[in-house]
Amino acid sequence: MSTGDAQTTLIDRFGRVHTDLRISVTDRCNFRCTYCMPAEGMQWLDRADLLSFEEIERISRVLVETAGVRSIRLTGGEPTVRARLPLLVEKLAALGVELSMTTNGATLPLVAQQLRDAGLDRINVSLDTLDAQRFVELTKRNELAQVLEGIDAAVAAGFEPVKVNAVLMRGTNDDEVLDFLRFGRERGVTVRFIEWMPLDAQGAWDDQTVVTYDEILRTARREFSFGAVERGHQPAERFVFDGDDAMDGPGGEFGVIASVTQPFCGDCDRMRLTADGQFRNCLFAIRHLDLREVVRGGGSDDDIVRAVAGEVDEKWSGHQIGNAVFIRPSKSMSQLGG
Ligand code: SAM
Ligand code: SF4
Repeated sequence: MSTGDAQTTLIDRFGRVHTDLRISVTDRCNFRCTYCMPAEGMQWLDRADLLSFEEIERISRVLVETAGVRSIRLTGGEPTVRARLPLLVEKLAALGVELSMTTNGATLPLVAQQLRDAGLDRINVSLDTLDAQRFVELTKRNELAQVLEGIDAAVAAGFEPVKVNAVLMRGTNDDEVLDFLRFGRERGVTVRFIEWMPLDAQGAWDDQTVVTYDEILRTARREFSFGAVERGHQPAERFVFDGDDAMDGPGGEFGVIASVTQPFCGDCDRMRLTADGQFRNCLFAIRHLDLREVVRGGGSDDDIVRAVAGEVDEKWSGHQIGNAVFIRPSKSMSQLGG
């Protein structure tokens, strides 16, 4: 950590400066995606264990005003199942950060405009199949139509770009790459394919089931012409359709997030706060800091920053998926806040 004049830079031992905070607002969800949580038997957090909106706002404000946080992403569980979410959005938008949310999209027909009006800047919708029957198998819910309507509602509400994230799994939905690319172009949204990670509740992940970056591009080239563009600080490698396939707007590009075969750990600027106030310096971290205890125990703003900075300082170089030393987190993605 480096401090000076009440300003702290959240920098770790590898020189990575941390400016992005992902906040899970609930561990609950209206879906049961097979790669994320079991269909039955999830143990939910008690309401009293969740950070209140006031606590989330305080932690965010302190980190924005004195520790260089510039972007906040709301996630979960499914963030839109947290009651009165637009109120939290309003509080966080007032901090002047780039504010975004990851959602399964099913409730967006009802809340997209409200969230936009409250100050949300960007939306990512997670959607892993365009086939109605497969959607039921993957999510245990018959709500593909609502998600598609939700994507349109997000575009209509003025979110730009709306990104649609698809996690690809071999033998499950790896035959939908071209369908998704056509979908993105038709709907004017940026599709991003994500290599799936060993965070599934059932432990079904193994490296043979990962549909790799290389495979995705090979498939995409069967129908489309495109070129890579500068990726900047983003985890997604970006590709813009060119030649006869070129087009303007969010539908004119797609991305691949190669979390497993080409991890972006070296550029990682992310920190996470779980719904019950655990601060984690990595999605795969085995340690965490109980920030809720700092806050509820009467900690000052300085105590919050010092605790967070100490935890960032301890961050490891990367997750080591695929290596013998990799340790699989005991919590699922929905509990960690993906
Ligand atoms: N419920 C919201 C949603 O589905 O977008 C937000 C939370 S969800 C845990 C965040 C993201 O994690 C989603 O895009 C989901 O596809 C992704 N995810 C969940 N389990 C995953 C896994 N094992 N590997 C890769 N991504 C995963
Ligand atoms: Fe819910 Fe998102 Fe997990 Fe699916 S991926 S079960 S929508 S939290």
